[in-house]
Amino acid sequence: EPIITFNKVNKWYGNNYHVLRDIDLTVTKGERIVVCGPSGSGKSTLIRCINRLEEHQQGNLTVDGVELTDDVKAIDDVRKKVGMVFQQFNLFPHLTVLENLTLSPMWVGKMPKKDAEEKAMEQLKRVRIAEQANKYPLQLSGGQQQRVAIARALCLKPKIMLFDEPTSALDPEMIKEVLDVMVEMASHGITMICVTHEMGFAKAVADRVIFMDQGQIVEQNTPTEFFNNP
Ligand code: ADP
Ligand code: ADP
Repeated sequence: EPIITFNKVNKWYGNNYHVLRDIDLTVTKGERIVVCGPSGSGKSTLIRCINRLEEHQQGNLTVDGVELTDDVKAIDDVRKKVGMVFQQFNLFPHLTVLENLTLSPMWVGKMPKKDAEEKAMEQLKRVRIAEQANKYPLQLSGGQQQRVAIARALCLKPKIMLFDEPTSALDPEMIKEVLDVMVEMASHGITMICVTHEMGFAKAVADRVIFMDQGQIVEQNTPTEFFNNP
């Protein structure tokens, strides 16, 4: 059953930079996809279109039954269903770890503080960072900060999780702790799309590896095929 469908999607930056070219892609519910390819090939733009951080200009893009258009309601709907994790964590430095979750704009005012804290602690436990709940992000390691960012995204119980180079800013010894959390998430059947050069995730859980070049999807493989055909 498809959850994301790109149908001849095209996007330009400015008038002439053609960043996505005729993208056709169907993602099935629960599928885990790794997107790789050279820097500048459009990987980040591709996933940012899924939660409308970027807009496509041609073609159709449907996410969990909602076609992405300029309709504000459609955008709100989609942002609730799609969590995103960035290379640079994007945590608020002046808020504690717990507050980074409970003061998320999607949550504020939607439930009593105590309930928000309870749900937030649940997610912090899931990424094994609950003991750090009252610290500030900069008191944590990069790997711990990224796990907080993952917990924050999970608070909204998204159906889809997008990752944009989630381990690229991390020291090698911290990559594994973030990958372990992602592998654990994968075991719960959430749809995941991860832009990464880190093949550990691809090897562990990906169903499909997509290779992009110059705004096009030029190859798609199972990880086994991908790693056997260098
Ligand atoms: P990748 O994730 O594969 O590195 P991106 O999707 O980030 O590729 O970017 C593709 C190309 O589009 C790059 O050359 C980048 O500089 C350019 N680009 C990205 N964002 C913008 C933007 N907001 N405005 C103009 N050009 C952009
Ligand atoms: P990364 O590959 O780490 O995403 P990029 O340089 O592609 O780094 O993009 C960093 C940010 O700057 C992104 O939000 C992207 O949309 C924006 N950006 C990238 N290139 C341009 C550009 N030429 N003009 C405007 N914004 C850009």
